[in-house]
Amino acid sequence: MYKYLLFDADNTLLDFDLAEAQALKETLSLCPLGFNDEIHKRYHVINDLEWKKLERGETTREKLRIDRFANLYNEFGMDGERYGSSTADIYTERLSKQGQLIDGAEEVLRTLSKKYRCFIVTNGITEVQRSRMDKTPLLQFIEHSFISQEMGCAKPSRVFFDKVMEHIGDDDISAYLIIGDSLTSDIKGAYDIGMDSVWYSNGKSDMPTYCIENLFELYDILL
Ligand SMILES: [Mg+2]
Repeated sequence: MYKYLLFDADNTLLDFDLAEAQALKETLSLCPLGFNDEIHKRYHVINDLEWKKLERGETTREKLRIDRFANLYNEFGMDGERYGSSTADIYTERLSKQGQLIDGAEEVLRTLSKKYRCFIVTNGITEVQRSRMDKTPLLQFIEHSFISQEMGCAKPSRVFFDKVMEHIGDDDISAYLIIGDSLTSDIKGAYDIGMDSVWYSNGKSDMPTYCIENLFELYDILL
């Protein structure tokens, strides 16, 4: 019954955790702060705080990109104002080179793209997401990538999903299935407009139509 599969990118097809760790290590090793486990841990704490501020509307995405590094320098007694921005630029550049895949992503997409039209729906920076996808063998199976920055709207907003369906040219919501790891963006966005969804997670929730713990379980749903 489904015709279109909408795949989230980060931590659904692309391993963002691995990509982030590698990019951070490369970036900070090149910068005055250096890299070790303690700095890595503090980065995550600061990054989470900045993302919470963004959700509350207390910062912007561009400010977050720089402040997380500036604050990290400050915490370790260095001049965040001086180094934050250049470190953020190096991180963006390094992150855009990371194309680590989630287990099974290539094989599952290869198989499913024979029967369904497959798309990417991702919240992120256009340049970074395109460049990372280019590093993978996945694009041959993907008809189009919808990236929040260039669309001017993001999951879970209804506008984002409306624009996706308009581009594809089919407003029959029952023909779509979204697959993603985020309950608050992928699954909630779909739930709010009555689209079926697959939650790729170890968690429990009534909101998604299906729950899977690895990508190969999509075969049970779709083949
Ligand atoms: Mg994700």
